[in-house]
Amino acid sequence: MIIGVPKEIKNHEYRVGLTPAAVKEFCSYKHQVIVESGAGLGVGFDNQQYIDAGAEIAPSANHVYTSAELIVKVKEPQANECKMLSEGQTLYTYLHLAPDPQQTQLLVESGATCIAYETVTDINGGLPLLAPMSEVAGRMSIQAGAHFLEKAHGGNGTLLGGVPGVAPGRILIIGGGVVGTNAAKMALGLGADVTILDRSLPRLRQLDDIFGGRLHTVYSTADAIEHYSSRADLVVGAVLIPGAAAPKLLTEEHIRNMKAGAVLVDVAIDQGGCFETSRATTHQAPTYIEHDVVHYCVANMPGGVARTSTMALNNATLANGLAIANKGVKQALLDDQHLMNGLNVHKGFVTYKAVVDALGEQL
Ligand code: NAD
Repeated sequence: MIIGVPKEIKNHEYRVGLTPAAVKEFCSYKHQVIVESGAGLGVGFDNQQYIDAGAEIAPSANHVYTSAELIVKVKEPQANECKMLSEGQTLYTYLHLAPDPQQTQLLVESGATCIAYETVTDINGGLPLLAPMSEVAGRMSIQAGAHFLEKAHGGNGTLLGGVPGVAPGRILIIGGGVVGTNAAKMALGLGADVTILDRSLPRLRQLDDIFGGRLHTVYSTADAIEHYSSRADLVVGAVLIPGAAAPKLLTEEHIRNMKAGAVLVDVAIDQGGCFETSRATTHQAPTYIEHDVVHYCVANMPGGVARTSTMALNNATLANGLAIANKGVKQALLDDQHLMNGLNVHKGFVTYKAVVDALGEQL
């Protein structure tokens, strides 16, 4: 099969669909890979590395889209990219169609088969192609929090790990899923005093098994949120209610009662945020201060560490990508219900119920 990797064109998107290592895997099965010139430069992969891995370099996106049977990307296609897709091609990337009628319409019109990373499932009911980005964001949340706790960045001047003779900073993590667990790992690694809240007792048990007495696990109630947020130097918002907007668990009143110079990192901002005063920010202007509390609400945190994110994403997408290339998309989908769950658009029809439910009237 011919696999195409265009350069991402969304603003400030540096990730790339395939790393040279992934290209090598496709080539080892005798597939042909065409990579747009410069596609990996933003994350340190130059054309020569792709050539050494077995790829051909195409001078433009148009060359990639007109030659490839399988297009592997990172972000949803922009309008001009959708228009280059055609029937018989498969698009394998993040799509996030439910809030995006324009993209959905263009993909329907293209006739292409479009598989969305974010709806592919696994045997445990998880979303394996979303998980790596949650791992990245969870780990980054503590790094960002530590940075903005510094005086020069608006924080209260607390070193999260403390030093011998001085107590460590206090971190509250709300939500103990993939983001929360990875945040806890980093926070404990720094030596901070960490409390994690979740509504799921099985999840709290698991966290207790993983981290033992080093981590305080607490059942999530409004009372617990009020108590622990008022003493925290850093609060990480990491809740998810699948398919719904994030609940505003930390109210404006709670935030008024926090310490001056404390930091909030709302990772759940991509679902609307779980703090009442959160509004989305960017890597260019990541924070603002409200009620003397620093707010960090970057909606695309993994983009800030695009190189790590690219490699983590490739680890998660490669097996399905190879299955599509080796078996053909139809057989790969028929053989694997979890990959089939990723199918969002096929030959002019929206095939994913949640997208139909969200956009039915607008299509
Ligand atoms: P997850 O499903 O693994 O974990 C969510 C956890 O929240 C679950 O353990 C659930 O029990 C818990 N929860 C639900 N209601 C709660 C409540 N009232 N109090 C406490 N806990 C509660 O999800 P995840 O992968 O960890 O993602 C968390 C959030 O981070 C999502 O909104 C996701 O979209 C977002 N995210 C954002 C970025 C970014 O760049 N900003 C990147 C990745 C993920």
